[in-house]
Amino acid sequence: MATKNENRTINLPPFNSPMPFNIEHALQILEQEVRNYQVPVVDLIAVQTHDPFKVLVATILSARTRDEVTALAAARLFAKAPTSQALAALDEKTLQQLIYPVGFYKNKARYLAALPEVLEKEFAAQVPSEIDELTSLPGVGRKTANLVRAQGFGKPAICVDTHVHRIMNIWGYVQTATPLQTEMALREKLPEQYWIRVNSLLVAFGQGTCRPIGPHCESCVLGALCPRIGVTPRKIKAAPVERRTGTKKMISWNVNGLRAVAKNGFTEIVAELAPDILALQEIKAVPDQLPESVRELAGFTSYFHSACRKGYSGVAIYSRVPADKVYHGIGAPRFDEEGRVLTLEFGDFYFVNCYFLNSRQDLSRLDLKQEFNHAVQEFVDGLTTKKSVVVCGDFNVAHTEKDLANPEANIKNAGFTPEERQWMNTYIQKGWIDTFRQYNQEPGHYSWWSYRSNARERNIGWRIDYFFVDLASRKRIIGADILADILGSDHCPITLDFK
Ligand code: SF4
Repeated sequence: MATKNENRTINLPPFNSPMPFNIEHALQILEQEVRNYQVPVVDLIAVQTHDPFKVLVATILSARTRDEVTALAAARLFAKAPTSQALAALDEKTLQQLIYPVGFYKNKARYLAALPEVLEKEFAAQVPSEIDELTSLPGVGRKTANLVRAQGFGKPAICVDTHVHRIMNIWGYVQTATPLQTEMALREKLPEQYWIRVNSLLVAFGQGTCRPIGPHCESCVLGALCPRIGVTPRKIKAAPVERRTGTKKMISWNVNGLRAVAKNGFTEIVAELAPDILALQEIKAVPDQLPESVRELAGFTSYFHSACRKGYSGVAIYSRVPADKVYHGIGAPRFDEEGRVLTLEFGDFYFVNCYFLNSRQDLSRLDLKQEFNHAVQEFVDGLTTKKSVVVCGDFNVAHTEKDLANPEANIKNAGFTPEERQWMNTYIQKGWIDTFRQYNQEPGHYSWWSYRSNARERNIGWRIDYFFVDLASRKRIIGADILADILGSDHCPITLDFK
């Protein structure tokens, strides 16, 4: 969705083959294709060393880490500890120094420090090759175990990471919700000759061409085979976006359950979008329920304000620069216990992340929502007396008829009632700037679509997610957009560039 930068979409020939996906043909094509790609670091170590211990250690190091970083860390570590016995002689602190800066290096150093003793006691100092045995080792999950069994021992195993899970579903070869389900489905139907190889092929292909965001369908060798299920091909930017010095890229996204999104490429999406501040709403989790890679997103300081009620509401903010102060809620216990507002204070601005109430289909929460709206307004108005204020989040209201696909049919419905729209009118009249509308006055730009009736494919949606900035800070707005191509939730992310 273009705002200040004009985008054009590559027009692809429509794909309409009803044939089942020819997996063997596709993998044979990829064998040729990935010869030009970089070999994944664990494969390289396996080929170079034929040593299950080194494959195991390299696989542990490689989680949430770029291959170049893993390769260097592994080389430093293996120079000191080429065997389990040598590893046993290194203390945790030394291990941390050797493997830094791999992701979660402290945890990984702890796992590596514990590894020799477990191998010695349980497996006669040898790396085991069975999945159940491997997953009993410190820091080894199912994905790592499969990779070690396949690459370290050459035994049949299917390592399903996010790329394998994602691409197999894009091809329609499996229809699964989690990597584990994908692994089980592939065990049933993928010919065994491809089990070991499929991970390397799809990781390389997923990093190079079929990327999680904006896959390069226009130049893909599988373009004629692939049904592209759930895929929006990339847009080619007419003019590359250059981030001006001092400009912060802010993103707001109602993820509708952070644990679910975490299983479907959340960290890859964040890496690709590269925000400076990322605000999430409806996380539906307390931090302890989140995987470590999401709870402590690499490169960010994370802040959470979860609801007291489990699995409900909740907001979070990830910031590359730690905040000076953090404010949980707005000082109204009735609303604060629902985990709806989280504010970070920085040197010259406040960043407020807000998940507004839904007034419900029967409008039974409309009065409460109006009460909440006014309480939030009072809170953010108060902040403007001190410094700039950015307010973002899911406001659960479409402001004007341009902001939803079927205004007439929804005139009395939650999210478009006269009362909710009137509140937003007064909010805007007080000087709060709807930043997206600074750049785009057209209808048809939405941030939420119902899961029903193919609403997203048909763009029958609502614009209910916003970035607002106070009037005095108008000149700090550099750009705003809606990232309708990003999947993973019934909402899509929205952005603000703010200097
Ligand atoms: S890049 Fe596009 S065409 Fe190629 S496999 Fe991925 S979704 Fe299919």
